[in-house]
Amino acid sequence: MYDAAVVGGGPAGQSAAIFLGRSGLKTVLLDNEKGLTKRALLKNHYGTGELTGEELVKAGRKQVENSGTEIHHAQVTTIHQTDDGFSIETESGETFEAKQVILATGSNARLARTIGLKTKEGQEKYVKTVIDTDPAGHTSINGIWAAGVAAGVSVHTIVTSGDGAKTAINLISELKGERYTDHEAVPAKK
Ligand SMILES: Cc1cc2nc3c(=O)[nH]c(=O)nc-3n(C[C@H](O)[C@H](O)[C@H](O)COP(=O)(O)OP(=O)(O)OC[C@H]3O[C@@H](n4cnc5c(N)ncnc54)[C@H](O)[C@@H]3O)c2cc1C
Repeated sequence: MYDAAVVGGGPAGQSAAIFLGRSGLKTVLLDNEKGLTKRALLKNHYGTGELTGEELVKAGRKQVENSGTEIHHAQVTTIHQTDDGFSIETESGETFEAKQVILATGSNARLARTIGLKTKEGQEKYVKTVIDTDPAGHTSINGIWAAGVAAGVSVHTIVTSGDGAKTAINLISELKGERYTDHEAVPAKK
């Protein structure tokens, strides 16, 4: 049983997975590796200079691995509610159990519809349907959260990655019962 599972390994899902892993929650990231971000040439991502989407996602994956979050290549087909959380089913037949789930599945709303999450019309270019969330990232099913393009934010990597982080911080804060902060300072010089 994982404390948290993230479905989708684009900027939103990876960023959420980094915060969740670093917080000490047992976390798994499930991604089908079909993300389109690798086709992007990013000139507007704060602090990085020009880089390709592929470079961003590759660097993000390394950070996810270093955070302690497990990564599995998987196509998630559906998610069922169980007595103590959720059972996440994949195309290969493998099942993952998690207490909380973040959906960061980008512009494809098929999984959200299959689960029966409340959705609404997307406002961004190329995004027809998004998951209905409150400002914290909660969806219509308690324990399932949504982040990034899936949650209707602006289709830019700086925004989607920030939204993934925001949603994870809210999830961690709820589980820990107090606002969560992940800060580290440069070690003092001797
Ligand atoms: C050609 C192109 C150029 C772009 N240029 C820019 C740019 O210059 N600047 C900029 O800021 N943004 C740009 N973008 C947009 C940017 O890449 C996206 O808005 C942003 O990365 C979306 O992040 P996300 O994590 O919300 O979703 P995504 O990156 O779409 O990630 C979702 C992930 O979830 C996976 N997934 C979906 N369903 C499932 C499932 N059922 N099971 C398992 N995995 C699943 C997908 O395959 C994908 O890996 C560009 C996009 C494209 C396509």
